Amino acid sequence: MLAASPLREHSAAAVIKKRVVQEAIADLRAQLQAASGRIDAAQVPDVDTLAKLLTTRLDQLLRAHPRRVINGTGVILHTNIGRAPISDRARAAMLGAAGYCDLEIDLESGRRGSRFSRIRPLARALLGAEDVHVVNNGGAAVLLACTALGLPGGVVLSRGQMVEIGDRFRVAEMAAAAGARVHEIGSTNRTHLRDYERALAGDDPPSAILWAHLSNFRQEGFVASVELRALAELARARGVPLIADLGSGSLGRGVPGQEPTIQDYLAAGVDLVTCSGDKLLGGPQAGVMAGRAALVERCRRHPMARALRPDKCTLAALHATLAAHAQAERPALPVHRMAAATVTRLRERARKLALATGCLESNVQTKSTRAAIGGGSLPGDTLESVALILPRPAGLTASALAKRLRLGEPAVITRVQADEVLLDLRAVAPEEDAALAEALGRALRAG
Ligand SMILES: *Cc1c(COP(=O)(O)O)cnc(C)c1O
Repeated sequence: MLAASPLREHSAAAVIKKRVVQEAIADLRAQLQAASGRIDAAQVPDVDTLAKLLTTRLDQLLRAHPRRVINGTGVILHTNIGRAPISDRARAAMLGAAGYCDLEIDLESGRRGSRFSRIRPLARALLGAEDVHVVNNGGAAVLLACTALGLPGGVVLSRGQMVEIGDRFRVAEMAAAAGARVHEIGSTNRTHLRDYERALAGDDPPSAILWAHLSNFRQEGFVASVELRALAELARARGVPLIADLGSGSLGRGVPGQEPTIQDYLAAGVDLVTCSGDKLLGGPQAGVMAGRAALVERCRRHPMARALRPDKCTLAALHATLAAHAQAERPALPVHRMAAATVTRLRERARKLALATGCLESNVQTKSTRAAIGGGSLPGDTLESVALILPRPAGLTASALAKRLRLGEPAVITRVQADEVLLDLRAVAPEEDAALAEALGRALRAG
């Protein structure tokens, strides 16, 4: 079969081709057998067809990944499609650091330096924290905090804060993975200060208090939780650190709604705040740990910190993101610009897009929608938005059109709702409109 010429000419190495051929034959055999219980020679594809199938598989294997998609879902921080889009400034910083860079060298003295030497003072000033450390993601920040500060006694955590976020990540399980015993207190709906007091006064007291922000849900009705300030006071009185997993990492400016900020948590007396870099902060995937110098230092010096440290491109992008926050009242980062876009402007863009797409002109319809910030922040809070209702080419179901758009170049991710394909403009950057119009035009014109 390797004799078939498109396969012979394919640029993939021979070992790769061999493996792909073996896997494709095994799949085909399983398919044919599943269909009729045996392999019927008449159903085996001819060599040309097979060669085409194999080159397609090889192309897919080698194609760049992850690659760009246009986000028509209306969810700004969508974890499945890359969460926060990285700003132009941060992209440039990543490119600048991609080759050799002054990651761990002090250019002035020529001596070895720290990869955190520049980001620390900037983050400290911006967040109003004594010290800041950076790891790979928010989960890693929780893990490192519980490992470095939650042993030997474990951590106390309210049952009302046993949060599960996307992809089955549970805050309590992350603490347990750190080797920290989790002292569960309170009930699902109510936890009181005396519950914390009792846990801390027990025979086998926890080494730290863990607080988790209810990122993606809300509790209403007969509920009670402890004020962060009161909890911080208790922590101080008992001499245990209060670690708060804030998750979304808002710095306030440019974020609508009532999401608490890192500064709020620190001002309330939290000893160590952890959050993600690619949620409301608007930067690359990273984990930020901000708080008391001695505690941050214990995290930084812990052997696990080495395994969780960010690479040079992440650090460059995060530094550029923090610099953008430090230089503007409202940071010009994609997340904040998208959140701030007015409905009038979105409607205007929808109209222009419909015109540019050509075939939409006559039958374009728009719809008022509710978009979301997402990314474990502001649950239930939505933003007014505008979507195009895409006209379906004859004979195409809504999900078939959505699939065609996903498989286009660039891929466009839409929302299918009540048999309509909706393209929400809230999370589409204006710079993407031209490429989007072309992608839509191609998908809608094709029969
Ligand atoms: C998002 C989130 C995390 C995990 O952060 P990642 O950066 O996705 O690892 C942890 N805790 C809370 C409360 C979150 O919202």
